[in-house]
Amino acid sequence: MTLNRKMTLLLGLVAIGVLAMLLLISLVAFRSFSILSSTAHVQTAAEIVRVHLTEAMITGVIDKREQFLERLTEIRDLRDARVVRSPLVVDQFGVGLAREMVADEIERRVLADGQPRFELTDERGEPVFRGTIPYIATALGTPNCLQCHHVEEGAVLGAVTIELSLAALQRQAIAAVIVVLLAVTLIILLAILGARRLIGPIGDTAGAIGALVQRALRGDFKGRVTQRTQDEIGQIAAHTNQLVAFLDQGLARISERVTQLMGRLPQQDENQLQATIDMVDGLADAARFKATIEEDETKTEIYDRFGQLLMDDFGVHRFSFYETQGPKRLIPMAVDGEIGGSCHWCDPQILVRSDTCRAKRSGHPVDGLRQPGICYAFRPDEAGRSSDPLRHYCFPIIQSGAVGSVIQLVTTAADADALQDRIPYIQIYLREMAPVLEAKRLTETLRESALRDAMTGLNNRRFLEEYVDTLIAGARRRNIRLALLMVDLDYFKMVNDTYGHDIGDTVLKGLAGILKQALRASDVLVRFGGEEFLIVLQEIDADGALAVAEKIRALVANHRFRIAGGTLQKTVSIGVALFPDDSETFWQTLKYADVALYRAKEDGRDRVVRFTPDMWEAGADIY
Ligand code: GH3
Ligand code: MG
Ligand code: MG
Repeated sequence: MTLNRKMTLLLGLVAIGVLAMLLLISLVAFRSFSILSSTAHVQTAAEIVRVHLTEAMITGVIDKREQFLERLTEIRDLRDARVVRSPLVVDQFGVGLAREMVADEIERRVLADGQPRFELTDERGEPVFRGTIPYIATALGTPNCLQCHHVEEGAVLGAVTIELSLAALQRQAIAAVIVVLLAVTLIILLAILGARRLIGPIGDTAGAIGALVQRALRGDFKGRVTQRTQDEIGQIAAHTNQLVAFLDQGLARISERVTQLMGRLPQQDENQLQATIDMVDGLADAARFKATIEEDETKTEIYDRFGQLLMDDFGVHRFSFYETQGPKRLIPMAVDGEIGGSCHWCDPQILVRSDTCRAKRSGHPVDGLRQPGICYAFRPDEAGRSSDPLRHYCFPIIQSGAVGSVIQLVTTAADADALQDRIPYIQIYLREMAPVLEAKRLTETLRESALRDAMTGLNNRRFLEEYVDTLIAGARRRNIRLALLMVDLDYFKMVNDTYGHDIGDTVLKGLAGILKQALRASDVLVRFGGEEFLIVLQEIDADGALAVAEKIRALVANHRFRIAGGTLQKTVSIGVALFPDDSETFWQTLKYADVALYRAKEDGRDRVVRFTPDMWEAGADIY
């Protein structure tokens, strides 16, 4: 029920109550007033009759009393006036006129006890007030009653009965009450109208604010309240409008910024506020995710964390993360939450011909949720899935201006719409993840290049320094021997001097190739210095090591290096030392290999020399 209705109802009830009370009070007041005034009238009339009768007795016209009483009844509203004689008067003067006989019980009682009696009766709808008043004999009045009447002081001489019609009075009273009631009703109606006018704007404003709040709860802050008055209610409306306008502008600004960041526009029928809150949440979560992955050590950790996020927060359990390698290859980094994993949702040829991956080739997202079959390489396992086909969505992640990774999400057709709604949110994470992945990738590449010799592609001395602890720990754990072969080209300076530096480089690369081919995967080959190479053979004895060294020496000696305008033959000298046989420390063993190499050079080059302790003692002053 509206405020206005409630108020009208309340005032209406109050009005009815007031009118009823007024009516009741008026009726009661009228009754007592008319009884009081009628009593006075009756008493006055009785006194007039008494005075007249007394005068008539004195002047001797008492026999004319009948006419007097009849004329008296001609007075308006005086219905009847009659006199009765008490038995004492009857005894003295006789019964008198017939009308002067005791007419009823009331008169008899009045004559008996000398007390006046009054009553209000209703005679066929006409209110009649009747009073019977006794005449008491007294010697004190003028004239002295006792002069004529032979009775004692205080005896009842007779009584007069007067009947007054109250019909006219009643009509007037009813008319007066009606006028009063009408006046009061009018005042109350005016009061209700006034109150309604006063309450009206409150109710309207309250209703409008209610509607405004409902709109706001749906995220729409465009509603306004009409300001109807200048008073407090008007102020409430104005302030509400200011507040809503402020919220509207604020929301619009936040929403605009967030939309720019998200690249997603809220739908028209969407709760704008809720959508904005969701987007802000998404951005905040993504920022937190970025802060976390920035501190992750490797790309693998990042992919692992992102996979976990897809499963936990987005309910996506089928996915592939690929990373591009060179112009042609794609490497699966994580598939369905498994790090590494194998290409599962796509034709495996994308791994070797990455351009068959549509996202990699185009650099644009591939929306297989809305357009199933858009990418030919998407080949989910169809067995038993005809009723629940799979859909995919692939995001390319651009790094250094090219597609660095491809993130593929796979879901059922039934869940495609739900995933579609989540795509913008996933995209924020990818946007945050891209630079971090790129930085990690760059760091890994840099680290790799720092440990690798660019010209020959072999590990360098820094790599050896970092790797040596692992190497030694492994050898100790497995209780195996390491053989260190220090290989140096003979008279290499001459090549540079004779043919130039470029030819020298060609020979170095050729030698690196020969060494690589001659070794097993478990052996370590390092470009140690300019034209010095270190080979670490694992799990081998002295004879074995010497045999490998000899094989290498022979391979080089028999090799013809192709150079512009012909071929070139070169030889190498190799020093061999064993760890831990020759020394307990790796670096000392390496020094011994160098000492042996020095000896090989001294002995005429193109040879293999096994380190012996006497070489160290002999050359103590040199080293
Ligand atoms: P030997 O070892 O038989 O005593 O004689 P050598 O001529 O090889 O003597 P040395 O070890 O003193 O000379 C090494 C030369 O290798 C010096 C340097 O110019 C050359 N060299 C080192 N690194 C490179 C390189 O990367 N490219 C080329 N072209 N030459 C290099
Ligand atoms: Mg040399
Ligand atoms: Mg050298």
